[in-house]
Amino acid sequence: DVPLIIGGIEASLRRFGHYDYWSDTVRRSILVDSKADVLIYGMGELQIIELADALDAGRFESALPDIRGICYMSKDLPDAPHVVCPSYEKIKVDKIAFADAFRIQYDEQDPHYGKIVVQQHGDRYMVQNTPALPLTQEEMDGVYNLPYTRTWHPKYDVKGGVPALSEVQFSLVSQRGCFGSCSFCAITNHQGRIIQNRSHESLLKEAEVMIQMDNFKGYIHDVGGPTANFRHLACDKQAKYGACKGKTCAAPVPCENLNTDHSDYVSLLRKLRKLKGVKKVFVRSGLRYDYVLADNNKAFVKELCEHHVSGQLKIAPEHISNRVTTMMGKAGKEAFLTFKKWFEDANHQLGKKQYLVPYFMSSHPGCTLDDAIELAEFLRDQHMYPEQVQDFIPTPGSLSTCMYYTGINPLDGTSVYVAKKGRDKAKQRALMQYKNIENYDLVKEALIEGNRRDLIGFGPKCLIPPRPIGRSKVGRRAVSSPKRRYR
Ligand code: SF4
Repeated sequence: DVPLIIGGIEASLRRFGHYDYWSDTVRRSILVDSKADVLIYGMGELQIIELADALDAGRFESALPDIRGICYMSKDLPDAPHVVCPSYEKIKVDKIAFADAFRIQYDEQDPHYGKIVVQQHGDRYMVQNTPALPLTQEEMDGVYNLPYTRTWHPKYDVKGGVPALSEVQFSLVSQRGCFGSCSFCAITNHQGRIIQNRSHESLLKEAEVMIQMDNFKGYIHDVGGPTANFRHLACDKQAKYGACKGKTCAAPVPCENLNTDHSDYVSLLRKLRKLKGVKKVFVRSGLRYDYVLADNNKAFVKELCEHHVSGQLKIAPEHISNRVTTMMGKAGKEAFLTFKKWFEDANHQLGKKQYLVPYFMSSHPGCTLDDAIELAEFLRDQHMYPEQVQDFIPTPGSLSTCMYYTGINPLDGTSVYVAKKGRDKAKQRALMQYKNIENYDLVKEALIEGNRRDLIGFGPKCLIPPRPIGRSKVGRRAVSSPKRRYR
């Protein structure tokens, strides 16, 4: 008889019937499978308080329809206005219905205008109440000013602690939410598009606590959130009316109403680096460089390079084929090249040797073999060799996952090519590291299949030689170690 309440990002993303990549099946809402009474979606602080109050008052069940940001099962449809999306039983067997359900859910995730969404599972209804309201700055400060221990539970002492903590122990969360709307990202579906930030005072106070810690060496590892430089609402209108339905704020081109001002973030970083006991303040959260470009802010890039980059700045263009980046909700090739130039110029002026580390992704829905070859040629021309590449993995509840599973873009109903077979995915991935000798056979197969034999040979534009030098006993200079690459 104890009410069971689940939450966190995993529960959040699996709140409706969803595609599960690991089992390659469409699964029920995790609320059904877990047999929990309530699922909290989003960050959850307000919901926890309201649920605790309801339990305290002995009116747990009757309070559920009135608590924002939760899901619950019901035998009846809600009395309040709501939209019904196709049932679990329907989306399980019908991909068009799956895409329809996704679009309905996607359109109602704004706290200002989102409606209650209902999805039938068997003879019951899974009811998603409207999203929780964004926290005010005062509430955000309240959450982050709680007396956290900033360390692991003592029970891990005997095991030497929790190594992963070192990544975050001296990092500051300055905001939550993201208006970037990358199609593959889980954050939008969890934290929403509306930025909620902390005050400078709250962040400085937390930094002072860090400074007093025995193992603090003077380095603040990060000041950011889902996107480091999204410190405030995308535009004034969002505060009252929410984020536009059917329109994205930042990409593929920035909205004309987008507030691109970086001054608050810059001012915060300056205050932090002036604190006594702080040697360096780094920015390691992802930076939306198209947002920097939209602000036409070379001074920000210079200040970033001068004070906040530790030799390498990680950015995520993800692809360079404009068709693919549009599907991804990312800026295109030109934005990447412009930012790269700004970054190089800034470091040149500062006399620093620092490098951009771009992340690229293969086999995102919409990415064909031709697109993958285009990316490989781009890397060749830019003299780039990405050490880390990733293959698209569909997380539950994202727009890209819907495209992956259904082959449909749910926002406009168009068909989307998806590389799903293991060999097709492997070829796309191998092309990003075409110099790696282990990838030779896959790259050659891809180039032949893509009618690009012109890229096989010894010419300056060729990606691979006609034979795998280094694997054969015959040939020119073999390969470099330790990655065994072609030169
Ligand atoms: S007006 Fe533009 S910036 Fe504002 S919410 Fe709409 S799309 Fe985003």
